[in-house]
Amino acid sequence: MEISELPVEGYEKVVRVRDAASGLDAFIAVHDTTLGPALGGMRMWPYASADEALTDVKRLARGMTFKSAIAHTGLGGGKSVIIGDPSQIKSEQLYLAMGEFIQSLGGTYITAEDVNTTIHDLEIVRRKTDFVTGLSLESGSSGNPSPFTAGGCFLGIGACLERVFGSDSCEGRVVALQGLGAVGSGLARRLAAAGAKVYGADIRHDRLQELADEFGLIPVDEQDVLTMECDVFAPCALGGLLNDETIPQLRCKIIAGSANNQLLTRAHGDALRARGILYAPDYVINAGGIINVACELLPGGYSKDESIARIRRIPAALRELFEISELEDISTADAAFRLAQKILTAGRAPA
Ligand code: NAD
Repeated sequence: MEISELPVEGYEKVVRVRDAASGLDAFIAVHDTTLGPALGGMRMWPYASADEALTDVKRLARGMTFKSAIAHTGLGGGKSVIIGDPSQIKSEQLYLAMGEFIQSLGGTYITAEDVNTTIHDLEIVRRKTDFVTGLSLESGSSGNPSPFTAGGCFLGIGACLERVFGSDSCEGRVVALQGLGAVGSGLARRLAAAGAKVYGADIRHDRLQELADEFGLIPVDEQDVLTMECDVFAPCALGGLLNDETIPQLRCKIIAGSANNQLLTRAHGDALRARGILYAPDYVINAGGIINVACELLPGGYSKDESIARIRRIPAALRELFEISELEDISTADAAFRLAQKILTAGRAPA
């Protein structure tokens, strides 16, 4: 196993591992541990090159720092990515090697589930490292974070509705979701139960039909969901969807969903503001999952009640950002960035 450290400005540690025996080729980025150890998921993706993987792990690790800072999880930001096609490279040997790699950082980085990795994969990783969260409930861990992310998004949408319409009620509101996977389907269910008219698009059409049968979701074509007229557009699939091309076409009043990195760049937050669209910064509204996982590291161990109490603070965090945005005449994306920087700066100050 060959582990090498890369000097990357603005990051505490970026390391790469290559292990010929298992085929593991992976990066871990530790962005900032001012507020605690760096926690972030372990992603597996068929990156076209090592450079592409490095760019992704850096971007994701940095996002985790800001997410945890604003959610007051007591954690820093980090992430890991494994290069390769999940259908080809997954093996016990590979995950054991990944566990050794994580252990070599001595707890600076704590891992969790992410795109293309499962609790089962993490159970293997855990055989070689102490620094794994988000395992099964049966093993005393916090389980799947997605329902908690969906719950936080639902509450966050309430805060947005209140800001725009003067009431957090979903009754009769038109919501369009892009992506009905683990988070999107849970969010759609909650919105429908609260009286919203729920539209949804997913490239997996079977999912749409299941949800239509279950609670009356109205399927939309994936090309149309972004541009349909609605009160709330909830991106729950991909990042980078809010950009120069798409923003002029939007016909929603609010954007509030779980997808990470929704804005192609932070400046696109200004473009949304100029169009009078209220944007709930993704790493604030989608923090339910990390809040839940972070509760595993509490001195008394994981408590679901404590997790829910903390997730209930997401609307207050959003309201604070809306206030900062108005008072300082900046986008909500800039407001979130400034608030995260402020929390980190305070964390760095000597006690
Ligand atoms: P998921 O893979 O379970 O669901 C994503 C869904 O989006 C899938 O059903 C997929 O078919 C669909 N999709 C992909 N491309 C699409 C497109 N172009 N148009 C419409 N649908 C498309 O993932 P998830 O766990 O539900 O996460 C959704 C998003 O939320 C991701 O961006 C993820 O990074 C983010 N997020 C998830 C959590 C969590 O707890 N799971 C926490 C924070 C952020």
